[in-house]
Amino acid sequence: MDLSTITKYLQSLSLPAFRRRQIVKNYFSGHFTNFTQMTDLPLELRTTLDQNFPLLSVKEINLLSTTNSQKALLKLKDGQKIETVLLDYHDWLSVCASTQVGCPLGCKFCATGKMGFIRNLTSEEIVDQIIFWNNYLINRHCEKSSTKQSPQGGYPYVGRVAFMGMGEPFLNWDNLILALNTIRSRDGLNLGNRKISISTAGIVPRIYEFADLNTEINLALSLHSAIQSTREILMPIAQKYSLPDLLTALHYYTHKTSRQLFLEFAPIADINDAQKEIDALIKLLKSDKLFFLNLIPLNPVKGGLVPSTKLKLIEKQLTAAHIDYSLRHSLGQSINSACGQLATFS
Ligand code: SF4
Repeated sequence: MDLSTITKYLQSLSLPAFRRRQIVKNYFSGHFTNFTQMTDLPLELRTTLDQNFPLLSVKEINLLSTTNSQKALLKLKDGQKIETVLLDYHDWLSVCASTQVGCPLGCKFCATGKMGFIRNLTSEEIVDQIIFWNNYLINRHCEKSSTKQSPQGGYPYVGRVAFMGMGEPFLNWDNLILALNTIRSRDGLNLGNRKISISTAGIVPRIYEFADLNTEINLALSLHSAIQSTREILMPIAQKYSLPDLLTALHYYTHKTSRQLFLEFAPIADINDAQKEIDALIKLLKSDKLFFLNLIPLNPVKGGLVPSTKLKLIEKQLTAAHIDYSLRHSLGQSINSACGQLATFS
């Protein structure tokens, strides 16, 4: 819901301020998909609002499920489509949110990158992905009881958000910041900074800007090679922002925030799994004690690259070099909802 538009509309009707507060509270609760359902509002107002505004800027057109992940294809007001994913990590529910329709960066291991760039999402469209999933969880909870409840013991709800869906978040900076403000706001979704993660392909100027914001939001970098020539093959953005410049920005971030920075590395057969690649990766990881490696088995993308068979060997060498790392287990590969698999070609 576009809060400024609806506020202006309510003002034009000369309604008391508490009506806006009621509507905003209802909207963020995730309990409603339209205004008619808000029975705490006068019927006439509900009807008028529904005639003028959709409550959510996204509409479900398809939903695929596995036991621990759901992927929704959502239609936007202009007919464009995005994908968003709900992941069940047993102790919490996390949304993988998109920030763009498509992506201009064309990383070779990514299905979104093959779509090209269509447009940035508005802050409303970013936030509404989370409200969409809260709504889904509440409705499903009403159908069958669930174990994922809010701390107050109420309905299940989205507890974490990762901007790792379609698009490069730092290329949609203004709308990302607006959406983050709403997601973190007490009067919005009230999600803590540490429950939010952003993954970037390495937009150097924005890494500085993000560091200067000094939030406690988690930052991850898609590294995938610590060798410039290899990174340029996998991620064309590396031609614009070189590894030395990128590393200077990353060191600035860790120094400024004193926060861990997550480096993502997906081993790919015959591209970044040679010994010199592993040596360069270890050297880079040792250059900053706040760098932390997330080793991610490559998710297959149609016509794409082949996962390396050397994962065990890489792990052995990391352990021998006393590097702390985490091996990420992808949820949702079977429905193409894992990292790098989101796309809306259809
Ligand atoms: S990995 Fe991220 S930045 Fe790269 S093409 Fe895919 S969506 Fe864009």
